[in-house]
Amino acid sequence: MERFRMELESLSKNEEFARVVVAVFLSRIDPTLEELDDVKTAVSEAVTNAELHGYGGGEGIIQVEVELDGRELTVRVKDSGVGIPDVAKAREPLFTTDTTGERSGMGFSFMEAFMDELEVESAPGVGTTVIMKKTIGR
Ligand code: ATP
Ligand code: MG
Repeated sequence: MERFRMELESLSKNEEFARVVVAVFLSRIDPTLEELDDVKTAVSEAVTNAELHGYGGGEGIIQVEVELDGRELTVRVKDSGVGIPDVAKAREPLFTTDTTGERSGMGFSFMEAFMDELEVESAPGVGTTVIMKKTIGR
């Protein structure tokens, strides 16, 4: 088992940083380009959600934990932001609380599609943890 954890400030430039660091870590087990892209997209969606929704574009710390157990990858993205009142609803395709028209409500659907498993733990006022798993090289 190999793992690492990082704490990022909630800044838009850190979305790319998280995505690239996870990709480099995953490269050790020779994923296909498609697997790498899938994981990068999922990480990007989760970190972007923490920044935009969890912290509303304001300050905060995002924790990213990555674990490789053989070929099973687990990524946890955690924020201590506003939390999600109704997780089941938030996970529905096209559901968004965004009012600017810039977001499409597809983030959770992408995470679900590109990873094997998606778990969302959240409580209003406490924060949100997104746990994603994917087996590499199937
Ligand atoms: P898109 O991801 O397509 O740009 P989106 O972010 O609104 O749009 P999802 O990523 O599917 O869509 O998230 C759905 C909704 O769940 C968000 O609009 C937001 O209300 C809520 N949400 C998601 N992640 C968080 C989070 N970390 N903290 C608080 N609310 C969240
Ligand atoms: Mg999103």
